[in-house]
Amino acid sequence: MYPERPVILILGAGGQVGWELLRTLAPLGRVVGATRQPQAGPWADLARPETLAPLLAEVRPTLVVNAAAYTAVDRAEQERERAAAINAEAVGELKRLAACAGIPLVHYSTDFVFAGDADRPYREDDPTGPLGVYGATKWAGEQALAASGATWLLFRTSWVYGVRGSNFLLTMRRLFREREEVRVVDDQIGTPTWSRLIAEVTAQVLGRALHGGLDLREVQGVYHLSGGGSTSWYGFARALHERLGGPCRLLPIPCRDYPLPARRPAYSVLDNGKLGRVFGIRLPHWRESLQQCLDDLG
Ligand code: NDP
Repeated sequence: MYPERPVILILGAGGQVGWELLRTLAPLGRVVGATRQPQAGPWADLARPETLAPLLAEVRPTLVVNAAAYTAVDRAEQERERAAAINAEAVGELKRLAACAGIPLVHYSTDFVFAGDADRPYREDDPTGPLGVYGATKWAGEQALAASGATWLLFRTSWVYGVRGSNFLLTMRRLFREREEVRVVDDQIGTPTWSRLIAEVTAQVLGRALHGGLDLREVQGVYHLSGGGSTSWYGFARALHERLGGPCRLLPIPCRDYPLPARRPAYSVLDNGKLGRVFGIRLPHWRESLQQCLDDLG
């Protein structure tokens, strides 16, 4: 069904997840990473969805993985149109192009599509209720994807960190060195997820499709993909501090003492059970992945 050496196009190749995908998907075929910079090779600017068609015509991929997104949660409150263009309209256009070319599309979304009032981990079919613009535009992207057409897989993940990019781990590491005291929100509960874990799970699933005879149409749909267990941002910071050390004191605070432009869900733990039931993939506890990531960071 697929060529022996498929061409895998990764959008957002310079992001946390995209960068990990470049390496992790490499054994599966010829990987082409696209950014939004025309001078850096293959490119498309998702804020201008019309730039996607020329990219796909040039690369002629077997499969597209979209790790590009507008992820500035607070800035999105001021930049609704831009966030919507990148997170929703571009996804609709990608889906249309993928359907025309008959190629599958892999996409990512966020725990911020939920309102945070659940009392157990969210399942894929639980009602959504985004509290901010970022979550709302990602939810609109999900809906664009789910409308009929191409074959698609959607992984919803949460609290992504890694060794590069802009993320909580790297921010805390810097603050532990610079500050005497760091105050961290203790009443938002979720699960940190290592960007490499997201890439590895994506690779496992796509490997079975591209080289193992798995028919993606039979497993098409939404999957939750986050670390196991749960914690607060303060709990995450403590785990980092235990390992990284530093003279600074950590103080738990309620989110009302750390006001931000965008509201966040108070509880956004994802239930990863469907990945286990459909693909037999069990996700490690977030602390285990964190240890590995910190080992990697050195
Ligand atoms: P990053 O912000 O690290 O990377 C996003 C990528 O998208 C960057 O390479 C960025 O390029 C690119 N991008 C932004 N705007 C455009 C544009 N107009 N045209 C083309 N590319 C663009 O995000 P993550 O890797 O963390 O996120 C991957 C996925 O996971 C996204 O779908 C995100 O919504 C989702 N997710 C992320 C979470 C997180 O905590 N980060 C939590 C839950 C879900 P550039 O580097 O040039 O800005």
